[in-house]
Amino acid sequence: VGVFRDQSVAVFGLGGSGFITAQALVAGGASVYVWDDNEHAREKARAAGLRIENLASVDWRGFSALVLSPGVPLTHPAPHWTVVKAREAGVEVIGDIELFCRERRRIAPDAPLIAITGTNGKSTTTALIAHLFATLGFDVQIGGNIGTPILALEPPSSERVHVVECSSYQIDLAPSLDPTVGVLLNVTPDHLDRHGTMENYAAIKARLVSAADHAVIGVDDAFCAAIAKKLRAEGHDVIGVSAAGMLEGDGVVFEGGALYWRGGRRLDLIADLSGVGSLRGAHNGQNAAASVAVLHAIGLDGAGLAKGLRSFAGLAHRMEEVGKYGKALLVNDSKATNADAAEKALLSFDNIFWILGGRAKQGGIESLKPLFGKIAKGYLIGEASHDFAKTIGDAFPVAFCQTLENALPLAARDAIESARAEPVVLLSPACASFDQFPDFEKRGDRFCEIARALIKAY
Ligand code: ADP
Repeated sequence: VGVFRDQSVAVFGLGGSGFITAQALVAGGASVYVWDDNEHAREKARAAGLRIENLASVDWRGFSALVLSPGVPLTHPAPHWTVVKAREAGVEVIGDIELFCRERRRIAPDAPLIAITGTNGKSTTTALIAHLFATLGFDVQIGGNIGTPILALEPPSSERVHVVECSSYQIDLAPSLDPTVGVLLNVTPDHLDRHGTMENYAAIKARLVSAADHAVIGVDDAFCAAIAKKLRAEGHDVIGVSAAGMLEGDGVVFEGGALYWRGGRRLDLIADLSGVGSLRGAHNGQNAAASVAVLHAIGLDGAGLAKGLRSFAGLAHRMEEVGKYGKALLVNDSKATNADAAEKALLSFDNIFWILGGRAKQGGIESLKPLFGKIAKGYLIGEASHDFAKTIGDAFPVAFCQTLENALPLAARDAIESARAEPVVLLSPACASFDQFPDFEKRGDRFCEIARALIKAY
């Protein structure tokens, strides 16, 4: 990244993307000073030849920018004061996506950039958009919040599409983010700790679409509907997307399991998604509609899209179909770390043998009560077991299993022995994993391991 050549830049936070950001800036000819509160991270940086500097006590005169890693907790005193002091000295505070955008402006201003944000569905939509471009034969780079840091991707070029997931934090630190197509999926109360009010949070997300050449906006919630209306009134190119019958005007709708392009009174079928396991449920209808709208925005329509949608493998740990144990479908939805996410899975299946529990979030599973009729039996694991059992009452039978190792084989056996057609053994825990696993990925991996062993032995 050559945008800070011969200038001094500070990088705070050396987890994944910070480390790569520092290296990219060095390669671009900047004098880079890095810091992380974690000594181990500093050691690693030192070993890689980076210059360590305690940014809490640095003289900010002479610095051009402070680059923050997405993982830096601004609520903690040290990073908080570092940012305050840098700003007081007139030093701009930015993130790696900002660096990418400036580099793009410098070397390839017409390079296609697709940026995706929203409270939920970002990763699925980002992966699906990238997949659709790939099936149409494009050179695609995928990164940002979804995994690979943006500066670790191939550089921007007019021959290459960058598909980038952005958290609101990353948008906040990227004032020049001006994607070719910006996607805003939905805005619901979340992450308010970091952004204060809901209005502030929505405004940050809105920036991504208002700066885009084309805006794709899910209009199923009031915040996004208002943003779409405002942008349209200001003359922006907006494609509305709805999976809940909320679309006024033209755009992409998901209805009765299929995607349609709606133009005036006409409905043109884009693709039937029934039977596409990786895109089950209305929430995925929204993700798929938004993805198709992106390609439409830049003039890519037609048969290739339907084929691309059908061949999407989906992401791990999000209603991931691991396989069939006899007649029972085994599904890993370990990413459902709260009741809202688990609700999406419960809505997407019937005859559910439900594995749930872990470390509960506030509110527990109270909000899921209306869906309890879909559950054949519950298998409780982890700390939340007793509280959840109380909420469940006698809505359906439960077994106290403690661990996944106990729960999954039991649930699988119950499912195949039951009289129910097409039973589903679903890990959708509505809980964080930290009481038993380092993260939801490890929990999901363990589920898949046990599930595959069961299937093999069937
Ligand atoms: P994110 O990257 O925004 O966290 P993911 O694509 O990883 O989103 O999906 C995480 C979970 O959010 C899914 O397991 C599902 O429960 C839920 N989800 C996915 N898409 C949507 C959507 N469009 N609306 C609401 N919830 C969704």
